[in-house]
Amino acid sequence: MKKTTHELLVKRIIQMEARINACKRCSSAHHCFNTPSMGKGDLTPEILLVFQSQGNRRPEMNNYIEIRQMLKKEFDQERIYHTFLVRCQPQACFHIDDTEDMLVRHKAFYKKECQFNEPDCPGIPILPTSKEVVSCLPYLIEEIDILAPNTVILFGKRTAEFVLKAKGVLEEPMIPGFYKYNNRCIFTTVEENLFTREDAKKLTGFIAARQEDLA
Ligand code: SF4
Repeated sequence: MKKTTHELLVKRIIQMEARINACKRCSSAHHCFNTPSMGKGDLTPEILLVFQSQGNRRPEMNNYIEIRQMLKKEFDQERIYHTFLVRCQPQACFHIDDTEDMLVRHKAFYKKECQFNEPDCPGIPILPTSKEVVSCLPYLIEEIDILAPNTVILFGKRTAEFVLKAKGVLEEPMIPGFYKYNNRCIFTTVEENLFTREDAKKLTGFIAARQEDLA
C-alpha cells in the first residue's frame, strides 16, 4: 500500500475512533466504566473478525487475542484484525438503579474498576440489547468499508444476523455459513465464548472448501 493511502486509512480509523469515544447514543453507555472497545490488529487485513462485544468471552480464555492467534496459525496468515459489533459493553450493576440519573459518561469514568468503592465489583457483562446493536452497527460497517478485507468472519448467530441484514441478507444465517457481498467473502461461525482450537481448524477447512468451489 502506498504511504499516502496508508496515512489516509489510518486517519479515517482515528477519526472514527474519536467519534466512538465521544458517542452517547446508548443509555447503557452512560453506565459504562470502560473505554469503548476498538478494533485491533493489522490495518491492511486479509481477514477481519467480528465479535459481539468485549464481555462475551471469559477473561481466563485470554480474550480475543487468543482467537486471533489460533486463526493466524490455522490460516498461516498474519494480516488479521478483530473488532466488535457493539463497542460499549453493558454491565449489570446494583448501584446503577439507584443512581441512574446521576451518572454521566465522561472520560474520567473510563477506568477498569468500578467507581463505587464498597463493595468492590468489576461489573457483570450482559448482552447488549438489539437497540444498542442497531445504534452501533454503522461504526462496524464503516470500519469494514475503510479496512476493505477480502474475508469477514462473523462470530455467533446474533452478530451474523445483524451484519448480514445490513448487507441485505434477510433470511436466518447458517452456522457455519458462507455469503458473498460486493466481492467480499463473509463467513459465519460459532459464538466467540464457545470458540475453541477445534473450531478454528473446522473454520479453516470450511473456508478452504468454499474458496476451492469459487476457484
Ligand atoms: S455502544 Fe456504540 S452506539 Fe452505543 S454509545 Fe457505545 S459507541 Fe455509541
